[in-house]
Amino acid sequence: MSSAHAAASSPPSGTTSPNPARPVQVQSPRFAIERTPFESPTFDVMGGAARHHIKIHEHGFVALVDAMPRLVPQGQTADAAIVQAARVSYGQGTKKVNEDRGLIRYLLRHRHTTPFEMLEFKFHVAMPIFVARQWIRHRTANVNEYSARYSIVPDRFYKPSLDAVRKQSASNRQGGEDRFTADPAAAPDEARTAEEFLRYLDDAEKMYGRYEHLTRAGVSRELARIALPVSVYTEWYWKCDLHNILRFLSLRMDPHAQEEIRIYADAMYALLEPIVPLTMEAFRDYELESVRLTRLEIEALRAGSATIDSDNRREQTEWAQKRASLGL
Ligand SMILES: Cc1cc2nc3c(=O)[nH]c(=O)nc-3n(C[C@H](O)[C@H](O)[C@H](O)COP(=O)(O)OP(=O)(O)OC[C@H]3O[C@@H](n4cnc5c(N)ncnc54)[C@H](O)[C@@H]3O)c2cc1C
Repeated sequence: MSSAHAAASSPPSGTTSPNPARPVQVQSPRFAIERTPFESPTFDVMGGAARHHIKIHEHGFVALVDAMPRLVPQGQTADAAIVQAARVSYGQGTKKVNEDRGLIRYLLRHRHTTPFEMLEFKFHVAMPIFVARQWIRHRTANVNEYSARYSIVPDRFYKPSLDAVRKQSASNRQGGEDRFTADPAAAPDEARTAEEFLRYLDDAEKMYGRYEHLTRAGVSRELARIALPVSVYTEWYWKCDLHNILRFLSLRMDPHAQEEIRIYADAMYALLEPIVPLTMEAFRDYELESVRLTRLEIEALRAGSATIDSDNRREQTEWAQKRASLGL
């Protein structure tokens, strides 16, 4: 066969050939299994790739390594699996892509969540242990982590650049927002403090040499690791359904989440958006960029008031922030 002919007859990358049209009977020891082919040619939502990988900082990454559904009818996206599940409850009401979009938006808006649980995504992630500790709180995922009892911890540590060292936030005890001025000419005290912070991280990293030496001298890996700092990297496979991934993204893409986990959440969003574009569009519209109002805030809004009927200072600040985001 000429190469031109081969190119013309082979399916485009990520596309599988149409299966035989009729169901095939396969006999197992006890049961007759009927294998029904797809009705039309299918498309691999990962485009035939083994992984979609985004590098994070110097040593980290988040990679999408598998998806369910992996194959969808050509011309559709993995969003189709949500519609397929929803049709069990709503019948064959919608058929066209624009109707699918409307249905997905309706489901997300009305928190009809179970159809979104029908999709699953598996990620391979490398992140510092302090990020992993926040991440592992999301209990609905399945996780398998690198074992530092079994294997030597690789020599990888997270260290922000000098101009990315953050100050303690005055308004939020859990937060760090503004950065130290790294330019000694502009703010000598700030530059000195930021440099001192990086030296402190360097000192912690130096424990790695002693860790390596002690494991070589016969100390068990499970004990030798305990003096390593939480800036050291770990890795895991993390699999979760789409509903709970959206929950994770909503919490961890939020400006209140720590910057070091937020960048991973942003990257996961970027990996998923081309695969479930209708869901991600609805998620952005109804969750990520939406504003939730309390009863007190609704009353203040109706009264055109800049304050709410509460003596809680934090609630007042939150209302002020919401008013600003609404352009009031
Ligand atoms: C900005 C920020 C600050 C935080 N600060 C702290 C902190 O200071 N200290 C701290 O300890 N944590 C903190 N957390 C973690 C937070 O409290 C949650 O544990 C974490 O965000 C996971 O959320 P989740 O429970 O909704 O997620 P998941 O564990 O994925 O659960 C999703 C949902 O599934 C359901 N679910 C899961 N497991 C169960 C169960 N066993 N029984 C019944 N229902 C279940 C619940 O409805 C739950 O909301 C913080 C999180 C954020 C985003």
